[in-house]
Amino acid sequence: MAQNADYYKVLGVGEKAGADDIKKAYRRLAKQYHPDANPNNPSAAERFKQISEAHGVLSDPEKRKQYDLMRRFGAFTPRAGGGSGGGAARPRAEDFDFTKGFDGFGGLGDLFSSIFGKGRRAEPPEVVEIAATVPFKVSALGGRVPVTLNVTEACPVCGGSGAAPGASISLCKECQGRGEIAFGQGAFAVKRPCPACRARGRVASAACDRCGGRGDVQVERRLMVDVPAGVESGHKLRLKGQGQRGQDGAVGDVVVTVTVAPDKFLRREGPDIVCTVPINLAQAVFGTRVRVRTVEGRRVVLRVPAGTQPGRKFRIRGQGIEDRGKRGDQLVEIQVHIPEQVNPEQEALLREFADKAGLKY
Ligand SMILES: [Zn+2]
Ligand SMILES: [Zn+2]
Repeated sequence: MAQNADYYKVLGVGEKAGADDIKKAYRRLAKQYHPDANPNNPSAAERFKQISEAHGVLSDPEKRKQYDLMRRFGAFTPRAGGGSGGGAARPRAEDFDFTKGFDGFGGLGDLFSSIFGKGRRAEPPEVVEIAATVPFKVSALGGRVPVTLNVTEACPVCGGSGAAPGASISLCKECQGRGEIAFGQGAFAVKRPCPACRARGRVASAACDRCGGRGDVQVERRLMVDVPAGVESGHKLRLKGQGQRGQDGAVGDVVVTVTVAPDKFLRREGPDIVCTVPINLAQAVFGTRVRVRTVEGRRVVLRVPAGTQPGRKFRIRGQGIEDRGKRGDQLVEIQVHIPEQVNPEQEALLREFADKAGLKY
């Protein structure tokens, strides 16, 4: 049968019902579902168990107070599709299975830590994932780039206590300073972080202005990332222990996904760096010297011999990508620029040249 965790619904009473109403409802239902009146009826037996459980909690003022507190946080909203009135159930509560919670640290534990943020059980720190743009030169030679990440830190004003300066601190009345509340009865009792004091066991007379009583704040942290030579777009770099501090005190990792910014002159092909240098018709025919920039920013003078064809590549050794102690080369690809327009005099000369060289056109 459907697990209905809402004790008020189990007994069919309103949440403001008085002790008498609860007692009356319990007696009526207990009689109706009592196993003696329903022999060999497991669903009635189950219902009877729930009714007794609900009565056990709601008839005890202290337990009822704790239960109401939990209920306010949505922990016992009935499951959607359970037949009890439609789509108002909170999405978080939909997956919630009461019985699992009673088994130990099943659904209830996860639910509670998501509701209350900080659980008693220390959670390991989360990995912070960020993206970084790396200049082409750094990707080729290695270097450092700055990144900014958002992390949660103990509030600098209250030091994590959540209390305003000068506020008086007292024991939490809900949990009597234990930081957790026992819920359920007997063998079914489970302990959960106290929502009233956020599991601290203490409450302040005034909350810290800076963090609103949470005890932690979001801050931007700047880090320098060591980028190894040869990195490519899509590579991930892991920074050990430089991210978010977890509840267990350990500091988590940061994972940086790299995007290499393109260079307007240089591009990468495997271990080599390629660039394209345009020369004019006369330079191609007669030969020339061109100045080429390397990834290190040096100017290299390259001799282009007479009769160089478009697309020919010249190699500058050792000016490519650094990779495990070896370096690729820089390849300079020659592009020959053909005049787009010629004037009548130039045209006459070119035609004369073509005729003498036997070029058909
Ligand atoms: Zn604070
Ligand atoms: Zn408390």
